[in-house]
Amino acid sequence: MNSLSFLCDTFLGTYAEESFKSLVELYATIEHDTQLFCFENSIACGPGCGTCCEHFIPDITNAEARLVAAYLLFVKNDQTLLDKLENFDQNSEGPCPLYDFGNAHHCTVYEVRPLICRLFGACASQDKNGSAVFRRCRYNTEGTMPMLLHFTNEVPVMQDFAYAIRSLDMDQVGARLLPEAVTEMAEQLKFLRSMLGFQNDNPDDTPNPIAS
Ligand code: SF4
Ligand code: SF4
Repeated sequence: MNSLSFLCDTFLGTYAEESFKSLVELYATIEHDTQLFCFENSIACGPGCGTCCEHFIPDITNAEARLVAAYLLFVKNDQTLLDKLENFDQNSEGPCPLYDFGNAHHCTVYEVRPLICRLFGACASQDKNGSAVFRRCRYNTEGTMPMLLHFTNEVPVMQDFAYAIRSLDMDQVGARLLPEAVTEMAEQLKFLRSMLGFQNDNPDDTPNPIAS
């Protein structure tokens, strides 16, 4: 079983399972569209590059934060990293607290990394006239991506994916910095998990609290 199925099973029948499934489905679409876009336009990151992660902290939605928190809590079981997020200086401009210099992907949560990390340097964005353009990532000194492309055909555009991802958040809180959002979602998931545990261990027919 892969780790995403494991997370869905862990929270079976709850709002968290629904949230993970919708997000993973959207990420799969994004992965497909951006890979095709990059292939067709000869766009690639420099070999072993992860410089963008060294210079920013992603803004993420609650649904994204919930998935990252679940991954850290129940797949990686990494309390040290969760503590690092909780104590992270919110004024820091990087590196991202999930950045790992020793990891080939440079990201400790690569499988569930947030939207912006999937899109940066890998899709077009809308300019002020509403046209789709691609601009080379400013850290790409190796020149493994074109400097500037203009499109008249339909291509993956950052703003469209941002709308799609925001529509998955029932609470409509909006995006906020990853450390704060993941820390809050980790607390909610721990509580939800304890409720589910209580349900499973229920020794008699006493009605359980609704956990979803
Ligand atoms: S988007 Fe730019 S900085 Fe980030 S990995 Fe690709 S080339 Fe490197
Ligand atoms: S979450 Fe991962 S991919 Fe995104 S900025 Fe942090 S280290 Fe980089």
